[in-house]
Amino acid sequence: MESEKILYTEGIVKKFGGLVAVDSIDLYLKKNEIIGLIGANGAGKTTLFNMISGVLPPTSGKIFYKDKQIQGLKPFKVCKLGIGRTYQITQPFRALTVLENAMVGALLRHSNVSDARKKAEEILEFVGLDHKKDVQGDDLNLPELKRMELAKALATEPDVLLLDEVMAGLNPTECGKVVELIKKIRESGISLIVIEHVMKAVMSLSERIYVLNQGKLIAEGTPEEITYNPEVIKSYLGEKKYA
Ligand code: ATP
Repeated sequence: MESEKILYTEGIVKKFGGLVAVDSIDLYLKKNEIIGLIGANGAGKTTLFNMISGVLPPTSGKIFYKDKQIQGLKPFKVCKLGIGRTYQITQPFRALTVLENAMVGALLRHSNVSDARKKAEEILEFVGLDHKKDVQGDDLNLPELKRMELAKALATEPDVLLLDEVMAGLNPTECGKVVELIKKIRESGISLIVIEHVMKAVMSLSERIYVLNQGKLIAEGTPEEITYNPEVIKSYLGEKKYA
């Protein structure tokens, strides 16, 4: 397979009882690319992330990362191979400080605690949270929690990062800052798949966008192609605001 595709799926399916949450999806991510994943609530976006990151095994289909099949591997193993992710609902260790939270990620590749601390400090500076490093996770506001979620994932030193609605609940100014941060992450050599309902952000970030509806891939294309696709407008964009 073409090695420029760092990650791709072939006919990936997830069934929950009678519900086909993800219905035979083929998608790919090239090195240094940002792709967007959009679609109405329940379209299957997070389920797709759960399968790629090993949280859920697929019912059928294959997932390739750096030309090796990874479907069904456990999350720790997938993370160790180089795929990091954030969660839609932030999952901070509330009793730990921001630095300690980032260290949890860094310990994946640095068994020595002082090396893990150094890596975590570097990442906190990168995401603009170094001034909060001694604050407890519990005491962060939402934009800070989102940044810490990013820091935890970045501290695992991924080559591919899956971002699940990192802008949800943020105001337009905060969203703009996160867009800049995501661009900086890509510039650092990481390829990204971004699930996002904030259309302005996903359109400005993504080279290509995949649109899911009720588990099925209904469109793939550049942001411009997606914007003018009648089926996408009917199933999803018609109800969205661009502001
Ligand atoms: P949202 O934008 O609301 O996050 P989504 O596109 O990420 O939606 P999923 O969370 O992947 O959608 O859900 C797809 C479908 O699968 C939904 O109908 C959901 O209720 C169902 N589903 C997801 N996880 C499970 C589960 N563990 N058990 C049963 N059904 C599930």
